[in-house]
Amino acid sequence: MTNAETIGSALAACRGRIDRVDARILLAEAIGRPGSYLVAHPEVALTAEQQCRFADWVTRRAQGEPVAYLVGSREFYGRRFEVSSAVLIPRPETEGLVELAKETFPNAPSAVLDLGTGSGAIAITLALLWPDAEVMAVDRSADALAVARRNAHRLGARVRFAESDWFSAVPAEMRFDLIVSNPPYVAAGDPHLAEGDVRFEPVSALAAGPDGLDDIRRIAAQSVPRLAPGACLFIEHGYDQAEAVSAILGRSGLKRVQTWPDLAGIPRITGGWLDASADEA
Ligand code: GLN
Repeated sequence: MTNAETIGSALAACRGRIDRVDARILLAEAIGRPGSYLVAHPEVALTAEQQCRFADWVTRRAQGEPVAYLVGSREFYGRRFEVSSAVLIPRPETEGLVELAKETFPNAPSAVLDLGTGSGAIAITLALLWPDAEVMAVDRSADALAVARRNAHRLGARVRFAESDWFSAVPAEMRFDLIVSNPPYVAAGDPHLAEGDVRFEPVSALAAGPDGLDDIRRIAAQSVPRLAPGACLFIEHGYDQAEAVSAILGRSGLKRVQTWPDLAGIPRITGGWLDASADEA
């Protein structure tokens, strides 16, 4: 490495080793400036510390570590969320779940539950959208919840968090107008788990049994008795699971089961409603 590294020379030096867009994000973060600064000031010299941090990140990125874990954050629905290797990196597809919730409830629901909250991205975004709603978010991982709690605190969201294996720690009397989840849904043997960013993500947030549907089956069965009359359950799932998830939701007693595509046109969220006249179980 040369001593007099500038923004321009640092970016040039990692060309071919890591993606150009990734390089820009990492360098902007390493120097604590917005990406536009890099374009406007290629001649600015890096401090030794900035140079060191950037070089370390480039090496680790070249070995596959996700950009979000290196910089410790990822943007979701226009806000920056802290992430660590204890949580799944929020995906743009999941913003669709927030959009769907928003469209479904032009007036804020009174009680919302996010199952498997991870970084808290969904629950916190909904809590900021509906400040008067009681938003609860659970995760089985204490390490994930620590990240989610910090995100809620920093973003000023009021969310009730609980360490819970799905409903195990959700008070029995609670009923929800909306339950959302981006659960683990990848089949345990899926070769996709050994590729790209997901190799570094918590497998407990990704894999769910031989067909990837173990957790969705549990969530459907356990959610229905916790829905208020007329309430709905929305679940994010894999590109080829819409039919299976629809069948699971239908069998669990939900009505008007529907699937919505993500921005790439892939069937991504399936949901259903409890009859408005349903007696509370
Ligand atoms: N969409 C993720 C992936 O396959 C999986 C996320 C999940 O299991 N909830 O990369």
